Amino acid sequence: MKINILMILLSVSVMSCAQETPKVKQVKKMAPKKEIKGVKVVNSEDPICHMKTAEFLKDTAIYKSKTYGFCSDYCKKEFKKNPAKYVQK
Ligand SMILES: [Zn+2]
Repeated sequence: MKINILMILLSVSVMSCAQETPKVKQVKKMAPKKEIKGVKVVNSEDPICHMKTAEFLKDTAIYKSKTYGFCSDYCKKEFKKNPAKYVQK
């Protein structure tokens, strides 16, 4: 019985600890990348979210020797999961 109570106390304290820790920590890790605006990309729209790459270009990925632009790291990752799905022909 004593052990059970201890376990509950432990898990409660672990959970409250996790809540206090901010999970958005690595959002601002790629700050020095402003010159990306001059990069030429083959897609005028982000294939994931359809934002204009000319205005919202934040990241690029090279697929089949072509440079594709994305509005965010998230979209790039989505693209890389299945590039063929997003690249026409
Ligand atoms: Zn996007």
